[in-house]
Amino acid sequence: FKQKTAYEIGVRLVGSEMCIRDRFITAMLMLTAPLKRLTEVNASLQRGLAAAESVFELVDEQSEDDRGTVEIARALGRIDFDNVTFSYPAHDRVVLTRINLSIAPGETVALVGSSGSGKTTLANLLPRFYHLQSGRILLDGHDIENLKLASLRNNIALVSQDVVLFNDTVAANIGYGSKRDAGMAEIEAATVAAHALEFIRDMPQGFNTQIGENGVRLSGGQRQRLAIARAILKDAPVLILDEATSALDSESERHVQAALDALMENRTTLVIAHRLSTIERADRIVVLDKGRIVEIGKHADLLAAGGIYAHLHRIQYAQDRADSEDGA
Ligand code: ADP
Repeated sequence: FKQKTAYEIGVRLVGSEMCIRDRFITAMLMLTAPLKRLTEVNASLQRGLAAAESVFELVDEQSEDDRGTVEIARALGRIDFDNVTFSYPAHDRVVLTRINLSIAPGETVALVGSSGSGKTTLANLLPRFYHLQSGRILLDGHDIENLKLASLRNNIALVSQDVVLFNDTVAANIGYGSKRDAGMAEIEAATVAAHALEFIRDMPQGFNTQIGENGVRLSGGQRQRLAIARAILKDAPVLILDEATSALDSESERHVQAALDALMENRTTLVIAHRLSTIERADRIVVLDKGRIVEIGKHADLLAAGGIYAHLHRIQYAQDRADSEDGA
C-alpha cells in the first residue's frame, strides 16, 4: 500500500512538475506577441505626442487683438492707405514709409518691386495681420482698426502662394471656414468658375475624393485652382492675390490664368505680381523700392518714363516677354 501510494504521489508530483513547466513555456510563448506589440507602441506614442504638441501650440496661441466695434455688411471695396509707416513688432527697421495710395472699387493694382521692397507687408496690413505704428488704412472710409475683425475679413479674400489644404474631401476643402455650410450647387458653381471642375470630375470619387495630407495628391496648378474656387465661393469685394512664383506647365498656366480672370472680375484687387501678363493688364502699377512708393502708372507709361520700373522690367520680365512673344 505504502509503495503504491508513494508511486501515485510520485506520478502526481512529476505530472504537476511537467504541468508547471508546460505552463511556463506556454506563458513564455504567449508573451512574445504582446512584447512585439509593445515595441511598436513607442512609434505611435511618439506620433501622438508630436500631434498633441502642435494641437496644444495652437490652443495656447493668444487670440487676435480685436478692439474694433464697427460692423459693416458687404463693402464696395474702396481702399485708402493714408500715410502708412510700419515696422515689424520687435524690429527697429522701418519696412514701409509714408505709403499713400487710394484704390477705387473694382480697380486692379499690381504691386511690383524687387524682393524685400515691402509688397507682401503692404498687402498683409489690409486684413490687419499687424497693427500700424502710424497712419491709417481705410476700407470704404472706415479705419480698419475700428472694424470688427470678422467684419473686415469677411470682406477680404486672400489667395496666396502657399495653399493650405486639409486632409479631407475636395468639397470640404473648397467650402471651409465661413463657407462650410455652402451647398453642393454653390461649391460646384465656384469650381466651374475656377476651371477646376474638369480635374475634379476625373478624380475617383469626384468631389468626395480625399485629397490626402495637405493635398499631396494634387499638382501645383490644381492646388491653385482649389484656392481660387474657395475665394470665388467666399465672394468678397476685396481680393489680395499673391501670385505664384513657381512656373506651371503651359496647360495649367492657361487654366490658372482663366480662373484668376474670373476671380478678379468686379473686385478690388491688390496683386503681388510676378507675371508680366498680370502687370500689363493691371489698371495701375505701384512700384515699391525699400518700402517707399517710387512710381505709379500704367505699364506703357512707366516703361516710357525709363525709371525703376523700366529697369526692373529689363532684368526681371525679359524672359516672360520672350515667352509671350514666342507664344503669340
Ligand atoms: P517683398 O514681398 O517685396 O519681397 P516683404 O514685405 O516680404 O517684401 O519684406 C519687406 C521687408 O520686411 C524685408 O526686409 C523683410 O526682411 C522684412 N520682413 C518681412 N517679414 C518680416 C517679419 N515677419 N518680421 C520681420 N521682418 C520681416
